[in-house]
Amino acid sequence: MPLYDYKCLKCGKESLLALTLKEHETGVATCPACGSKELEQLITSFIARTSSKS
Ligand SMILES: [Zn+2]
Repeated sequence: MPLYDYKCLKCGKESLLALTLKEHETGVATCPACGSKELEQLITSFIARTSSKS
């Protein structure tokens, strides 16, 4: 499941959320801190976070 970095526009908290593509497309992401749906996606996350298990 892809991870998305979001920044809440209400409380300013950045959250790393695991969403399915469908959830991402439908925009169901909510801030875990305050419950706001006014989230701004941070573009950097998706590429930067590669987990290498070796
Ligand atoms: Zn918030």
